[in-house]
Amino acid sequence: MEPGYHRDGETREGATGSEKDFADLLLERILDKKGTIFKEKQGIDFTGRDILSPSYRPDIILHRDTQIKQIIEYFVPCINNNQSPGNMLIYGKTGTGKTLVTRHAAAKIVENASKRGAAVPFITYINAKMYNTKYRILAKICEDIGVFVPKTGIATDAILDALKDVLKKADKPLVSIIDEVDLLVRSREKDDLLYVLTRLAEDDPAVRVSIIGISNDLRFKTFLGIRVLSSLNAQEIVFQPYQRSELVDILKQRADLAFKEDVVDEGIVGAIATIAAREDGDARKAIALLLKTGEVAEQEGAAFIDAEHLVKARDRLDLDTTESFLSTLPVQFQIVIIAISNAQTHYKCSANTGVILKIYHDLVKESEDFVSSIGLRRLLQILKDLNDQGILDLAVVSNGRGRSSVVSMNLERSIIEHVFSKNQQLKKLLNYIPKMKCLDSFLGPSNDSNDL
Ligand code: ADP
Ligand code: MG
Repeated sequence: MEPGYHRDGETREGATGSEKDFADLLLERILDKKGTIFKEKQGIDFTGRDILSPSYRPDIILHRDTQIKQIIEYFVPCINNNQSPGNMLIYGKTGTGKTLVTRHAAAKIVENASKRGAAVPFITYINAKMYNTKYRILAKICEDIGVFVPKTGIATDAILDALKDVLKKADKPLVSIIDEVDLLVRSREKDDLLYVLTRLAEDDPAVRVSIIGISNDLRFKTFLGIRVLSSLNAQEIVFQPYQRSELVDILKQRADLAFKEDVVDEGIVGAIATIAAREDGDARKAIALLLKTGEVAEQEGAAFIDAEHLVKARDRLDLDTTESFLSTLPVQFQIVIIAISNAQTHYKCSANTGVILKIYHDLVKESEDFVSSIGLRRLLQILKDLNDQGILDLAVVSNGRGRSSVVSMNLERSIIEHVFSKNQQLKKLLNYIPKMKCLDSFLGPSNDSNDL
């Protein structure tokens, strides 16, 4: 028998004479309980598991050459002539590689320009999610170029003056990357920040400031006022969602770095890529699913990842998402969900808005005032929001007495109980059984008033 071949002639892909037998390898792992299926150490700071975390930045970026080229070319005026490159807007849905590619290109500009003695611009990076006031954003930009600004206490104009001074003295352009910039423009104060930054340069030609705004929201520009829009005058780059084949390559790259040999095979990577491509082509979600799948396999003491681990990981991620969504909803929304769910659980039928409102008010009484009362108009708004989020279905039906809105819950009772019973006050309300007299106006597919 040739080495690497099994008796029945089946081969294992890539097997060579020098490789270990696959069965030996598996048994070695299972019997010797070699601990984790993730690589234990990868580089100084990273373990295999870290490589699948959202903050890890791979050295090699796949399938984004067009965008890398566009960003590098954008920077050319800085490094060739020490000029300001103008403003740029980068759009794309989440997980399309915007942050990774932009930071990568910016780091390469600095690295290569310094190596060759070319002009090196100031480049700063800030995520608007982390810095939520105009003051803090400006202070952080200053700090990144070496200007000390106290955390509070001076006027923004004073910060801007300090910034201008440094830029003039250094005689260098500043390119400020503002990630998740769409979060800024929802508020007047911060919308103004973009204006102020773009104006800096216009008021004094010796001050060169450019902005690269990165937006997850494709409607970003529609939020900008005319004033900001015209002074921004940005060139634009779009990041399209990843195709399945691109996700396969991205996942393979990570899986090779993160897992020990033979832990994850092409079938699993392909299946994850298919799922992620169907849901928005989001590489972040794809990588998160790969991590979760690895964690499930590891918890089960498996030596390698199989399709069942993937199915469980998907369910858990769905549950995690739903859980964090439900647990961070305003309390009025939570009570509305409990009201509907309690009614459906005890009486097995859809509920109309009048009924929901009555149960809501009963729950308010039960809650000893930790919930505030609401009226029908507010209830309808909440139901509409929850309908838009896919938590429930809101339908208008006509019956003998006119039209009314009927609600049916899309969440399983077990999920609602799982999430809300973690909160003592909500837990008590989950046990509340709606009163029979509320139910005269019940409607819905399984409604049969004789049964009630
Ligand atoms: P966005 O900023 O568009 O939401 P990110 O740049 O944060 O997306 O990318 C999401 C995740 O996917 C990150 O973990 C990133 O490292 C990874 N990723 C995205 N694009 C690529 C790519 N082309 N090659 C390798 N990894 C990628
Ligand atoms: Mg991003």
